[in-house]
Amino acid sequence: MNSLYVFEIYPSIQGESTHAGRKCVFIRLAGCNLACSYCDSTEAATGQGVEMTLDAVMGKVGGYDIGLVEVTGGEPLIQPGAGALLERLCDAGFETLVETNGTVDITRFDRRAKFIMDIKTPGSGAEGRFLERNLEALATHDEVKFVITGRGDFEWAANQVARWNLSKEVVALFSPVHGKVAPKELAQWLLESGIEGRLNLQLHKIIWGADATGV
Ligand code: SF4
Repeated sequence: MNSLYVFEIYPSIQGESTHAGRKCVFIRLAGCNLACSYCDSTEAATGQGVEMTLDAVMGKVGGYDIGLVEVTGGEPLIQPGAGALLERLCDAGFETLVETNGTVDITRFDRRAKFIMDIKTPGSGAEGRFLERNLEALATHDEVKFVITGRGDFEWAANQVARWNLSKEVVALFSPVHGKVAPKELAQWLLESGIEGRLNLQLHKIIWGADATGV
């Protein structure tokens, strides 16, 4: 596949993961196979996007002169052209991040890319859609993320970390849902727990405000 349905491409500051604070170009692809309760990208998740060739996407990304690129969505891996895009980005020397909801088998994709896998908590409404075999495919440069809507999600996530021994293999990020769990509250839960987890605040919302898009 030589084209993709793109919602937007823009340079910004990476807001999440261990790469937070770095300059990054975001390639936000259109469409998603889930409808999470807390989704803050509904326009991209439900939109059609604009069809762009791989060459056009690479040309636009290259124009920013930033070495870090994140492919996100929606769920980027459901697009048939996603595999070719990751390969092109890695071949071109971009440090490539992929934000995925974990419902698509990651072994089909270029593993030079670093996958940040959102393991859907019960509060997302999409628990059970996650492919557990993706956890076995994680490499040390990958990360997992739990978006926490309340105490129940936190306990569920802590159990997953222990059950899969996740924090021994990869960084496990814990992200509070804006307006539902205060960062201070989640920080306290992490401190009181025995798990190795990293508090993941959405830096872009702190910089540009909670409702800003395309930043
Ligand atoms: S997987 Fe991500 S983009 Fe899709 S509905 Fe859930 S939060 Fe939104």
